[in-house]
Amino acid sequence: MFAIPRRHPSRQVQVASLLVGGGAPIVVQSMNSRPALDIEGNLQELEELKKAGCELSRLAIPTKESLKAFEEIVSRSPLPIVADIHFDYRLALAALERGAAALRLNPGNIRNQEGLAEVAKMAKRKQVPIRVGVNAGSLDKRIIAEEGGVNAKSMLRSAREALGFFEALDFDDLCISMKASHGPLLIAANALIAEACHYPIHLGLTEAGTKEKGAVRSAAALAPLLYAGIGDTIRISLTADPVEEVHVAYDILQALGLRDHGARLVSCPGCGRTEVDIRPMAARVEDYIRTIREPLTIAVMGCPVNGPGEAREADYGLAGGRNEYLLFAKGKILHKVKEEEAFGALVQLIEEGLEDESEE
Ligand code: SF4
Repeated sequence: MFAIPRRHPSRQVQVASLLVGGGAPIVVQSMNSRPALDIEGNLQELEELKKAGCELSRLAIPTKESLKAFEEIVSRSPLPIVADIHFDYRLALAALERGAAALRLNPGNIRNQEGLAEVAKMAKRKQVPIRVGVNAGSLDKRIIAEEGGVNAKSMLRSAREALGFFEALDFDDLCISMKASHGPLLIAANALIAEACHYPIHLGLTEAGTKEKGAVRSAAALAPLLYAGIGDTIRISLTADPVEEVHVAYDILQALGLRDHGARLVSCPGCGRTEVDIRPMAARVEDYIRTIREPLTIAVMGCPVNGPGEAREADYGLAGGRNEYLLFAKGKILHKVKEEEAFGALVQLIEEGLEDESEE
């Protein structure tokens, strides 16, 4: 009844060794937050992104002075890097020469068609895909006027013109993104492009906001599309450490049954039956399990009455009693533990379980 959605069929592109579209797992990407000239800072950020599960990152190249640093970052990066180019096609050519795994170009910002044709020619020679990144905030004025404003139709028109431009040059190693900061516009525009083309679709709500609000807004806007099978790669744009973007992306995909990415927490809200301080415990456990890549379910429940039963699908869990917790595994109570020792006991139980699994 609630089957995992059939994915919108798209052709597959290859970004370095990473497959995007064509039924490949939905790729989680982010964007470096530091200036390109900060080589060591960017490399450290990339290591942290990779550790969190990020598969692809984008780096802005605003000036030609950034190019040498970009080259060094690419050569030492643990992740493939997408070069983000605005305004100047010559920066795109230089980024291709310096090892970009993909290009992201905004058709509203690069108007030199001869220059773009040169970019397509070089990208084809180097087998580097180009993402056409349409953004509701930077549509061509002509298109806005002709389509009656900034709307899903004007975004579709912008995408079609840009994709058509590359197709006319016999270049089809393309991805498309239709980004907006307004959820309904994002959903409508992506539904239209999914019907209109077979290129892999990159999803993201732009200017989503800070860590918590941005996560909620992104989840609300992306979930209807993902559940309709639309989207081959996602980025959650947060005003926060980019590592948070990766955690939120996986949380959304995991909640929809689209990707497994390690352990997940189930926890109850607590109520009049709760006699332990459940909120800090749930937060502490959630923080701890971020490092676990096995698909475990860990429960933190407020009471023994409903706790182990309601969380019976959990591999390991805690259920609160009076200033103590019951430690349980797969619905079975193991033993009591003092409240202040419960976190350590749960961690020990999980780690012993993981060790046993790795020995089997
Ligand atoms: S599991 Fe227990 S403490 Fe948690 S909400 Fe349900 S009844 Fe309340």
